Amino acid sequence: MLKRIRHLIPKYTALVIYRSQIRSVLDYGDVIFDNASFLSKPKLDRVQREAVLTIARVFRRTPTISLLKDVGVEPLSIRRKIHRLTMFHKMFHRKCPAYLYNLVPSDTRSAYVLRPKGIPDPVTRTQRSRYSFLSKTIKEWNSLANGLQNSRKNIFIKYIKKMFSVDKANKLFYHGQEPAITHHTRLRLGLSHMRSHLYQFNIIEDPFCPHCPNIPETPMHFLLKCHKYSSQRKDMFHKLQQALNCDLTNKSSKAMTKMLLEGGSQYDYTTNCKIFSLVHLYMIQTERFIIKPNQTQ
Ligand SMILES: [Zn+2]
Repeated sequence: MLKRIRHLIPKYTALVIYRSQIRSVLDYGDVIFDNASFLSKPKLDRVQREAVLTIARVFRRTPTISLLKDVGVEPLSIRRKIHRLTMFHKMFHRKCPAYLYNLVPSDTRSAYVLRPKGIPDPVTRTQRSRYSFLSKTIKEWNSLANGLQNSRKNIFIKYIKKMFSVDKANKLFYHGQEPAITHHTRLRLGLSHMRSHLYQFNIIEDPFCPHCPNIPETPMHFLLKCHKYSSQRKDMFHKLQQALNCDLTNKSSKAMTKMLLEGGSQYDYTTNCKIFSLVHLYMIQTERFIIKPNQTQ
């Protein structure tokens, strides 16, 4: 469904639909099935990857880690871990039915014996029970920082999300209109119509810019150096200097490319939106990404 309607809706709406309609199904009961085999769980990851490829409208061979980070979606394995720990927090503090909190092993070890802190691990004799919810989660629970186990639920969830680097979607990467927003995302993720990217993925035989002999066509070359687009670039930088109210000539090419692709950390959201809008305008004016039917690059 997402694939069929993606071209009709903005990127952020596609993300909201994925989170509410698809990921909620992938998450359902994940506390229980996290002990599933290593062959079964990747099937769910593939569903998530397919959805995220559709949201970002990037090429199928785009690396998963950078793709998930760019779209602002955490791996399902991390979500399962957070859900298990949150569930155990409820069981530990008796905020769930008795048949659940009674499963938490009580510490019956002698007070006179030197013993490790935390909840004792349940005795496991088989591989299956070793990877069960209780056994796996108790080990992770005991390894959490001291005092965290007794914190309130919302503080606990906030802390473990931070601990597992769960990032929110970067609003900036959702700014702009199609198709410029898609091409911008592809440039950022390292697999776009740039010849250097296509060459890197063995799609074409040489990485060189069609307008500059023997110079690879990289995002930096396209954004800052290619003489074919010098008038559009002059216009972009003129507007950029006005918007940022600073001299950009001292900035290195690498830092400038990073700023044009990812925004500047020193600028607020509104200023970064202006940068992105100007980059999108530059991409449209250069017509570099208009693909003719008989053209592969
Ligand atoms: Zn060039």
